[in-house]
Amino acid sequence: MPFKIIASQCTQCGACEFECPSVAIEFKGETYVIDPDKCTECKEAFDTQQCVSVCPVPKTCVPA
Ligand code: SF4
Ligand code: SF4
Repeated sequence: MPFKIIASQCTQCGACEFECPSVAIEFKGETYVIDPDKCTECKEAFDTQQCVSVCPVPKTCVPA
């Protein structure tokens, strides 16, 4: 299951964009979004989802 960003909670800090090993996160319109076709859940790259790890706002990067 790919991850998604809860737009209403995202502060647009941009931290997640550079940590994603799949380059699945980009700024689109007015917020950051995760491309579900690119998100690999960080499998094989990391033990934990990097977007979840770096996001300063709890429960903003969540399973879609
Ligand atoms: S779970 Fe991993 S691959 Fe998916 S968007 Fe977050 S950092 Fe990128
Ligand atoms: S790290 Fe969290 S708050 Fe920052 S841009 Fe990504 S989803 Fe938004």
